[in-house]
Amino acid sequence: MKQLSDAILNSQKSAIRKLFELLLQSSDGISFGIGQPDFTSPDFVNKEIIKALNEHKTQYAPALGLPTLRRVVAQKFQKENNMKGVENENIMITNGGSQALQLSFAVLSNPGDEMIMSSPNFLSYIYLASYYHLKLVEVPRLENYGPNLDAIRKAITPKTKFIMINSPNNPTGYVYSKKQMDELVQIVLENDLYLVSDEVYENFLYNDHIHISPGSYDEMMDRTLTLNALSKTFGATGLRLGYVAANKEIIELMEKYGQYTAAGVNHPTQYGAIEALTKGNPDIPQILQNYDKKRKFTLKRLKELQFDVVEPYGAFYIMPRLNPNWNMTSEVFSNDLVKEEHVACVPGNGFGSYSDYSLRISYATSDELLEEGFNRIERFLKKRS
Ligand code: PLP
Repeated sequence: MKQLSDAILNSQKSAIRKLFELLLQSSDGISFGIGQPDFTSPDFVNKEIIKALNEHKTQYAPALGLPTLRRVVAQKFQKENNMKGVENENIMITNGGSQALQLSFAVLSNPGDEMIMSSPNFLSYIYLASYYHLKLVEVPRLENYGPNLDAIRKAITPKTKFIMINSPNNPTGYVYSKKQMDELVQIVLENDLYLVSDEVYENFLYNDHIHISPGSYDEMMDRTLTLNALSKTFGATGLRLGYVAANKEIIELMEKYGQYTAAGVNHPTQYGAIEALTKGNPDIPQILQNYDKKRKFTLKRLKELQFDVVEPYGAFYIMPRLNPNWNMTSEVFSNDLVKEEHVACVPGNGFGSYSDYSLRISYATSDELLEEGFNRIERFLKKRS
């Protein structure tokens, strides 16, 4: 048989999925690997989806999404993200943030173009770069997981097409400051680049940190692709509803590509999204209070156990580095921990080339499981001391 796609053959099965498979073999498993909130979509959103289903809205929706939803999304970007020039023609509705990402890579890339990102970073960017025949340029993050903007500047070549950012970040929890965003915008403008901004964690912020959309800078409107989804803010990872804002020409290309690859987004769900994005998630303040407690608890326990930790101010992840005295890569640590104590943390090597000795821990789980999970990690480490 002839060889199948090299790019897909060479991509690893997601480290997170592999871990889940191991964890499922035990009855008392605790997962710190989950990339989703521990709440689900609000009833007022679900009700609209059910209503649309009962009204038999089950035929194709327009490839760009329902016009009313596109208008609501444009208004959301204007009001919440300060992206003044965004109109309906700048919006496409997508199958989750994931399809918004795929479309962004598809319309921006020609074979051999280069894409720059800070590393570690969200796994999908690495494989999308390979599927779209981009050269991936990973720039290691600073010690505090901030972007190394000097190094990013130096990494630019005539072939650089775009920079990929995700703030608040998965897996590090890092949030760009205003000063960093100002500088990044300068870099993009000076070098005539595009910027893809993945903002799916925009609502998960702690200690008065704020979210800044690069698309809100006047000169950036035309060169920023801003993507988001209901997935994290509304606890709706299974609804598969995302959206992207970009200049009109880019949206037209996305429409063409989307038409031939996905032919639109689940129709009834789009009615739920209209309601969701009109009202917002009223539970967010309460959720953040709760997550902040978990974040502090996780930080405290990791410090007590002698991990090297950087305090995260966004998303619901923390990325501790393993203590060098333990003499373990994150792959060995995670595999042994899951086998011995039935606790799953994601090994850092799933997030790029610079995190072989780090773990990603998601604290979006119950207080009881967090406490029990750390007691087990403590026992695991005691056996090795
Ligand atoms: N972007 C980031 C940074 C993510 O962490 C995720 C999911 O974990 C996504 C995009 C994908 O979002 P969705 O589930 O809406 O496709």
